[in-house]
Amino acid sequence: MLDPNSTRDVGPRTGTPLWLYLAVVTTAGGGLLGASLYLYGLDRLQQLSTMPLVWLMLCMVVIGELRPIASPRRTPDQGAPTSLPFSFALLVSFGLPVAALVQAVASVIAGVARGQAPHRVAFNIAQYVLSFGVAQAVLSLLVSQEAAAPRPVSGADLAGVGLAGAVYFVCNLALVDSAVAVHERVPMAATLRKDLTQRLFVHGVLLSLAPLVSVSMTHEIWLVPLFFFPLAALYTSATLSVKREHQANHDELTGLANRKLLILRTQEALTEAQQRRNRVGLLLLDLDRFKEVNDTLGHPTGDRLLQTVARRLTHSVRPGDLVARLGGDEFAVLLPQVRDAASAREVAARLRVSLAEPMRLDGMDFDLEASVGIALYPNHAPDFELLMQRADVAMYVAKERRTGVELYEPDKDRNSTARLSLFGELRRALVDDELLMHYQPKMGLADQRAVGLEALVRWNHPQRGVLNPEDFVPLVEQSYLMRSFTHEVLERTLPQIARWWDEGVRLPVAVNLSARELLDPTLPDIVAAALRRHGVAPRALRLEISERVMVAEADAITPTMLALADLGVALVLDDFGTGYFTLARLNGLPVDEIKMDESFVRRSLADPDGHLIVQSAVDLVGTLGMRAVAEGVESQGVVDDMRSMGCYAAQGRYFAAPLQAGDVVGWLVEHGGLEPPASYIAPASSEEHTRSA
Ligand code: C2E
Ligand code: MG
Ligand code: MG
Repeated sequence: MLDPNSTRDVGPRTGTPLWLYLAVVTTAGGGLLGASLYLYGLDRLQQLSTMPLVWLMLCMVVIGELRPIASPRRTPDQGAPTSLPFSFALLVSFGLPVAALVQAVASVIAGVARGQAPHRVAFNIAQYVLSFGVAQAVLSLLVSQEAAAPRPVSGADLAGVGLAGAVYFVCNLALVDSAVAVHERVPMAATLRKDLTQRLFVHGVLLSLAPLVSVSMTHEIWLVPLFFFPLAALYTSATLSVKREHQANHDELTGLANRKLLILRTQEALTEAQQRRNRVGLLLLDLDRFKEVNDTLGHPTGDRLLQTVARRLTHSVRPGDLVARLGGDEFAVLLPQVRDAASAREVAARLRVSLAEPMRLDGMDFDLEASVGIALYPNHAPDFELLMQRADVAMYVAKERRTGVELYEPDKDRNSTARLSLFGELRRALVDDELLMHYQPKMGLADQRAVGLEALVRWNHPQRGVLNPEDFVPLVEQSYLMRSFTHEVLERTLPQIARWWDEGVRLPVAVNLSARELLDPTLPDIVAAALRRHGVAPRALRLEISERVMVAEADAITPTMLALADLGVALVLDDFGTGYFTLARLNGLPVDEIKMDESFVRRSLADPDGHLIVQSAVDLVGTLGMRAVAEGVESQGVVDDMRSMGCYAAQGRYFAAPLQAGDVVGWLVEHGGLEPPASYIAPASSEEHTRSA
């Protein structure tokens, strides 16, 4: 009942503040219950047990205890119980001993039915008895207690009963919320504020029924069960609305908070942290190699694995911390209060350890590993967006270095402050359609005919004008915007390809992929879905992968490359000659074209050695059965040189700068044919489904 984030029900450790608090309240409540029953006397208790009314009321209170009115930010059993009209009516008409006794018996029955731990049931009873005790004190002062029980409520008593109800509410709220505050280590004010209006309203409605129950009780007890109906209506509508709110804020598969709730809670935590000058931690966790499980064992198994992961993560954090699923295999953990970086690292380590224990599913053991990135407020970022972005940078570093956990470090972040402001704008750009694609023709050197196009992204920035990829692609690479960016580029390029192919311009179009995109194991699925959506044949698309990625991440991206090639999409090694990549490493990788970087191509004209190096690279490419393409070609001299070396094609401003989509067909008509030689593109396979076929 005290822990909204956890399903554990072990008692607090002896000696902790929570233990002390629960012990004090339980003892006080138990004492008051015992004393009032003792004073009431055994005779009267025996007499009570012969009254059908008392048994009827006990039934109503038990049912009510089992059906608390749900509240969005509390566990089901933290809601206001629908037993309140009956127990409070008992208090008004019979006095504290009877109300407390019936409530205690009902709480025990409901507790057993729900499998609650004994310490929780005991605390629950105690807080009722104490709150009833205080309300009774008010009643004794303001309402005549002379008539024999059950005492009817008269109009004149209403003010007194109302005040007693208010006192009950305040006392109950204080007792329960103090426990929550001690448990979650948050200030009392913070827990009190949660749903205060809703709780005030619900308690008001329930308490206002108490005098009516009391009147029915004293006049005709068989009217009492009729209260079941309005209460059932209240219960059902509250449950429904909480369910709806829950759905909107939680992930369906795992039941964890979703991004929306994470944003909300982070913002609350930041406001709180500003006032109390404490730190907030945001952890981003990504499972390593989860895609393999999904692919080999199917989505149902993957789903169950994610559910287990969710459970383990939830159990590794403190109450008050929030675990959220951001989608796929990406999770976030919000620590609304964290002492320092070391404590945040501890939590991260704990999260990883919780996953390290093999998970058994369908008789198989799975070892899952995760990479965690940490960002702290106020050290690293002032708001949710930036915290998220920086945790993401840290997570990426953790993945890259295989260290498991990384704290955000500004010098590992290639973002400058100016770039950071750009980052915020980039999010908007993705939504507001500010990205556009330019297309640069690639010319076959044998007959100077176009053999393809390369799609190059541009950002049409409303203030800064058209920005080139180097101004923002690195920024995208370091952020969680990567997937939206890939999506956006494909969503712009593929419809254009479909249109050209429909019009008879059947040139394959190459799209560039950055390192980060290739590290995303879902990329082949994303590409396949996009091709299908736009009715583009896989052979109409080519994907360029930079040599830098191949050097740094060859092992990690190989499965992704194979999966892309399986789709029938040709892969191109881009920027060859800028790093230390040796073509021999391409062995076994499905690459059919090597694009030599402009700086590498230039070497061929610089000196005889350079010429030899480029020539041998071109020869080797040919020997490996691939095509060599020269990039950044700006003069006739280079074109001739490349042709004489046996280079297949060239691209560069000598032929054409990157063109706007609308200018491409005109340029092609004027300069070099609308279709590449048949040998350049693979023949359409029978399963390929194209709009143009
Ligand atoms: P890249 O794939 O090597 O693209 C070739 C670059 O050479 C383009 O720069 C192009 O405009 C430029 N170029 C064209 N003709 C000449 C020339 O005659 N001389 C010289 N020196 N350069 C020439 P751009 O468009 O600025 O793109 C730069 C890089 O950004 C690309 O290099 C590619 O790695 C990346 N990029 C471009 N579009 C995308 C995209 O949609 N997604 C991703 N992930 N990366 C992209
Ligand atoms: Mg390229
Ligand atoms: Mg290049």
